[in-house]
Amino acid sequence: MNRLGVHALVWVGGWSEAECDRAVTSTAALGYDFIEIPLLDPYGFPVEMTCRRLERAGLGATASLGLSPETDISSEDPAAVARGEDLLNTAVNVVRDLGATHLCGVIHSALMKYMQPRTERGMANVVAVLRRVAERAAAAGITVGVEVVNRYETNVVNTAAEVVSLIERIDRPNVYAHLDTYHMNIEEGFVGLAIERTGERLGYFHVGESHRGYLGTGTVDFTAVFRSLARIGYAGPIAFESFSSAVVDPKLSNMLGVWRNLWTDSHDLARHAKAFMEAQLLAARRAMAVPPG
Ligand code: MN
Repeated sequence: MNRLGVHALVWVGGWSEAECDRAVTSTAALGYDFIEIPLLDPYGFPVEMTCRRLERAGLGATASLGLSPETDISSEDPAAVARGEDLLNTAVNVVRDLGATHLCGVIHSALMKYMQPRTERGMANVVAVLRRVAERAAAAGITVGVEVVNRYETNVVNTAAEVVSLIERIDRPNVYAHLDTYHMNIEEGFVGLAIERTGERLGYFHVGESHRGYLGTGTVDFTAVFRSLARIGYAGPIAFESFSSAVVDPKLSNMLGVWRNLWTDSHDLARHAKAFMEAQLLAARRAMAVPPG
């Protein structure tokens, strides 16, 4: 069975001690296995405080982030690439000190709408930096997930096929594809096939609806998604990701275009998502077991 998690922005927009406590306690109370913590500023992240709260709740953690134009490793500007590598190295240290298992997200570029295509020099920088970051992560037992996001949030990897090709270039055993149903619903022609072609390269999975609200109330074909996850025997973490103007991180929410109030009750949303994902996982496994003919 996959470990199930929830993104911290379902609960809180910041990470003060009170916010950390609320997010961790609420996640654990619903029976999730882990919380995904956004590490937009790994330099100032309160590691010890967070560790205490995770331990007290018996909750696991993963971490994700998006780079900015100042730390864009897909840039041709060596200074930005160096700042990005330093930020990612710092993030690896935080993930290690938290006892977390995965560092994932938009670790390959700035999380933003680019106004020009990626360049080969920029991609060479991505490959070189992520290779070194992966080696540092491997030494700490951390898995690295390269997230595929839609065209309005990166120009580096918009499809599963593109991330598989990037991972092959990086060529380190702890680097995996991180797919997200919200983004796949925009960019892939055949979501199930994209998952199946990623196959054993898949290492982290975001479950999000087409409008990023309640699961099952948008246009993502979750039956197809979970059947394809079952077909490739995906056993890695699955994290529910949802955003509403009801809970706002001043940096991340604006970059993601979270303008609408899609929900107000975090607890009801997260409880529903866990039941939804468990039902889909079970149904997909049962469907696999139905004898043909
Ligand atoms: Mn995502």
